[in-house]
Amino acid sequence: MTVTPRTALTIAGSDSGGGAGIQADLRTFFACGVHGLVALTAVTVQNSLGVQGFAEIDTEIVTAQIKAVAGDMGVNAAKTGMLATADIIQAVAKTLDEVHIGHGTGVPFVVDPVAASMTGHALLREEALEAIRTELFPRATLITPNLDEVRLLTGIEVTGPETQREAAKALLEFGSEWVLVKGGHLEQVSDCVDLLSDGTRVIELSGPRFHTNNTHGGGDTMASAITASLAKGLDVPDAVSEGKLFIERCVAESYPLGAGVGPVSPFWRLKD
Ligand code: PLP
Repeated sequence: MTVTPRTALTIAGSDSGGGAGIQADLRTFFACGVHGLVALTAVTVQNSLGVQGFAEIDTEIVTAQIKAVAGDMGVNAAKTGMLATADIIQAVAKTLDEVHIGHGTGVPFVVDPVAASMTGHALLREEALEAIRTELFPRATLITPNLDEVRLLTGIEVTGPETQREAAKALLEFGSEWVLVKGGHLEQVSDCVDLLSDGTRVIELSGPRFHTNNTHGGGDTMASAITASLAKGLDVPDAVSEGKLFIERCVAESYPLGAGVGPVSPFWRLKD
């Protein structure tokens, strides 16, 4: 008999280069064995050299996509990526309440607070940062900022384990259940140490650092792998451990494409 897989919803933007955004989310969901659902928020014009521009989708169309799939197919876990504007963030937050997704509903919700690409191009209008903090974080099961996003959200410059803990504590005050402060951008540290905390437990996850220029889509891929594990019923610490193992392989098997930054890749899952 055919078994219907679990479902995971991504609320995020498109990357024309196919390395990040919903393209990364969907291929990660597929590689992790869950059915991917999409609410598209923005269309970026992008290649390996960076983001040349973007257009956001009408707020009503964003929320209608969420309602359409949640009402008919059901959502076992959801994540957000690029949300572009404060209006979209506010509308998404309201809709998640209506369809019972997020902290306290039994349907885990991961917020990857995407603000800019690694090439430094803005993916979020400036006024929207406050909406991420006040509208999304309190509804989140887990938030997954990288160190640039930590600085934007809290003003804390993470330089080592102590400031990483301080940042986790400050971020939890915005109301998410868990925070994962990713240490991948701390290049002076030989291992890649991420810090997971719910305020009571503090869990250090250490993994190897791979020296490659091809890391485009890494944040999206990790958050999607964690979301897929949550959709399958894992608890947050186990889902984050699985997500970390998944992204390590994806970075190890990333490839050059175009003149700039190539994508991380879950192709290894197909080979295995
Ligand atoms: N484009 C889109 C649509 C994204 O959602 C993201 C990250 O979330 C990026 C680009 C940036 O990816 P990276 O920082 O890995 O280059």
